[in-house]
Amino acid sequence: TFEYAPAPESRAVVDIKSSYGLFIGGEFTDPADGASFKSINPANEEVLADIAQAGVTDVDRAVAAARKAFSQTWSKMSGRDRGKYLFRIARIIQERARELAVLESIDNGKPIRESRDVDIPLVAAHFFYYAGWADKLEYAGYGVDPRPHGVAGQIIPWNFPMLMLAWKIAPALATGNTVVLKPAETTPLTALLFAEICQQADLPPGVVNILTGAGETGRLLVEHPDVDKVAFTGSTEVGKAIARSVAGTSKKATLELGGKAANIVFDDAPLDQAVEGIVNGIFFNQGHVCCAGSRLLVQESVYDDVLARLKRRLATLRVGDPLDKNTDVGAINSAEQLTRIRELSEVGEAEGAERWSPECVLPERGFWFAPTVFTGVSQAHRIAREEIFGPVLSVLTFRTPAEAVEKANNTPYGLSAGVWTDKGSRILWMSQQLRAGVVWANTFNKFDPTSPFGGYKESGYGREGGRHGLGAYLVPSERSGR
Ligand code: NAD
Repeated sequence: TFEYAPAPESRAVVDIKSSYGLFIGGEFTDPADGASFKSINPANEEVLADIAQAGVTDVDRAVAAARKAFSQTWSKMSGRDRGKYLFRIARIIQERARELAVLESIDNGKPIRESRDVDIPLVAAHFFYYAGWADKLEYAGYGVDPRPHGVAGQIIPWNFPMLMLAWKIAPALATGNTVVLKPAETTPLTALLFAEICQQADLPPGVVNILTGAGETGRLLVEHPDVDKVAFTGSTEVGKAIARSVAGTSKKATLELGGKAANIVFDDAPLDQAVEGIVNGIFFNQGHVCCAGSRLLVQESVYDDVLARLKRRLATLRVGDPLDKNTDVGAINSAEQLTRIRELSEVGEAEGAERWSPECVLPERGFWFAPTVFTGVSQAHRIAREEIFGPVLSVLTFRTPAEAVEKANNTPYGLSAGVWTDKGSRILWMSQQLRAGVVWANTFNKFDPTSPFGGYKESGYGREGGRHGLGAYLVPSERSGR
């Protein structure tokens, strides 16, 4: 039986203020109209802080601060000097890693083991990686003298708040752009701590501006006439609205949207390893992962074996307190997301799929959902087609590799896929056939700053990460090197 008991020593490392302003021009300021909203701890529904809500005047001020910093400071600075700031930020992130990890787990609901061992180390790694690029842009493949766009308006979701911030801010700054970033309304706290880190690093005022607020703040930022580049990660629905909004303007946009990835297990796969990959694929971060392996495709000959192993493994998962180091599955990020997961799971049952969860007692307060597996799923079922963005796995079967490819590609999305097999030739063939931006082989959910990430089809366009990620923030020069 789980009872929510916050670990006191973990809490002590973070100082959550009762209210937060907007970070504009290097300083925290109040929003012009005084509007605010609350950030909630999803594990117990307690209010964490009062957060400023940016309106039209604030968006204007932040974009003007970013413009001024771009033209007066940042675009004039050498790449080497920009790199020094990024290295400094990366080091401060490492120094304050524990604080960032705890704050992320409190605000988002993700297990501390994940924020401590995955999210925050990757955040630092992204800043180190792009710091290294800042003085080498002529080798990036975008011409001998690529230029920044100017002011980037960046909008991120709540599932990896700090990591999405790093994916956006590190390449933008390395390439000489300045930014106005809007974190998601349910997870603003680590972005605000990042604002403090920018102050600590003596980053010139206005190079990074953080505007908190909901979708309306994001819309104002996207539509602002002095924003040159829009970078968005979030739902396909909002991504399409942003694509429509920037169409016909001179703004450039990159969109990282939803997914419904297939995790494909062949009968020659090392099955224990595959089961670990299946669990990591869909239950990591409560399944709040755009590239989650939410559709398991198992070859019929090993279906019973894989299912039995999977159920045994799921019975050992610990659902509960995000700050407990033994927790495997934390809280669902918001009441709204919990409702969506519940509704789609009910649809799954109504459509005739069989629902199974391991025995687990969920806490009474907070937003919780037990790890769930649906078997007997057909391709027509909504749970096989729509992104649930929660700890819910839909299991389908296949007989031949061609059938696996056909089923895996039968989705409007195309962000990622996984292949489990002992055959190297099959891995190569499958990775050519699968319409997915990332194909993992005998692993899943592996991320690295050197690797580009992004989707096909309705999963968006543009790539983030690696050398390719620089291209989103550069105007290739006419004296193109290639
Ligand atoms: P969302 O689209 O509702 O919100 C994302 C962000 O956009 C938030 O900051 C939100 O405030 C803002 N926003 C909302 N309406 C807006 C508008 N009209 N104009 C501008 N900004 C607006 O998505 P979500 O529920 O926060 O996130 C979950 C979705 O994000 C999932 O679909 C998931 O797959 C996707 N996602 C994709 C990636 C990726 O890299 N491809 C990564 C993480 C999440």
